[in-house]
Amino acid sequence: MARRRIKLKARICPRCGREVEETIGGLCPECYVDVYRVASIPGRAEFIYCKYCGSYKVQGSWTQPLGSIEETLNTYLFTYYTKRLRPTTHIDEAWIEDIIVPGNITGPGTYRVRVSIKGRSGDLILKEDATAIVKVSLGVCPTCTNRITKRGYEAVIQVRGSKGRLTSNMRSRVDEILLGLDERMKESIISLEEQKEGIDILVQDAATARLIAAKLKTSLMARVTETYKLAGRRSDGRRIGKLTLAVRIPDLNPGDVLSIRGTPHIYLGQARSGALVVDMESGEERVVSSDELWSGVGDHIVVDERRLLLISSTRDSVVFLDADRGYRSVLEYPSSLVKVLVGDFKEGREFKAYIHGSRVYVVKEVTEYG
Ligand SMILES: [Zn+2]
Ligand SMILES: [Zn+2]
Repeated sequence: MARRRIKLKARICPRCGREVEETIGGLCPECYVDVYRVASIPGRAEFIYCKYCGSYKVQGSWTQPLGSIEETLNTYLFTYYTKRLRPTTHIDEAWIEDIIVPGNITGPGTYRVRVSIKGRSGDLILKEDATAIVKVSLGVCPTCTNRITKRGYEAVIQVRGSKGRLTSNMRSRVDEILLGLDERMKESIISLEEQKEGIDILVQDAATARLIAAKLKTSLMARVTETYKLAGRRSDGRRIGKLTLAVRIPDLNPGDVLSIRGTPHIYLGQARSGALVVDMESGEERVVSSDELWSGVGDHIVVDERRLLLISSTRDSVVFLDADRGYRSVLEYPSSLVKVLVGDFKEGREFKAYIHGSRVYVVKEVTEYG
């Protein structure tokens, strides 16, 4: 630091003949930079980036890219040159002030960059503009390699419908949920595999796969079952295997009957925190969780389904003709026992209805026009 420098009121630079207050290594600052430079940097640098995701390689590991390749290259070179900067003899310290990369980096090739370097000698600040060559080349990062070769995933989420096939309606809702995942989750999805019965989602790590499955469960009232197949152990004793998360989306349409804890219910649709159903015993509506919704899967329920023609509907009573019995039998119910789950409950129209105990549930209009 405290390098002694001969300070004279006026010294003549032997190289340019100018009169200066201070000299460095016997020269004026400009001549010093001309002859010795402020610092040396490697003349060539190499920049490798992933052709799929733009990640770049820094000392053997891959780093997330910034907004543009120019920005990324700039950041990379800043660190690269800062680490390799060697101040010349009379410079106490030096640093990278700025790097200008060409704005037209379109892919692999060699590019010329301008590196502006500053250095300090005693109280003097010296500046130098250097040029360097950067060789830009393409690679494939390990994450993208895994994605392409479909290797390196710990879990598979198998998304299916409860009756087997995933309907297009369910499929679009699954897509919507996947698109809404946060970036980190999306990145860990290695691939979406179309299967005959649905889709398989290959996920890099098991923990993220469980989070994605949980999201599908709450959003779609799905049921999730886990199986783990051990494939071996690594040298450190950790298990290697594949986790399979079977996600079953209930294949339900409004008006469908299902058993919940042994009681028949009519599915009305999805509510914010579960499924909206009507208890056919009590006629009451309530919201059930996906676990409740799935509690009666496999139960055999028989409901009395009829096609009824509405004759009249007043405050006190509702009168139908039973279309399934040739319109010969008249069915009259107190209004309080008829639950209408359709919008247009008009006389002269026919409806699909369930008769359960003393109650009638009108679920759908089935009038054939023309
Ligand atoms: Zn000079
Ligand atoms: Zn990549």
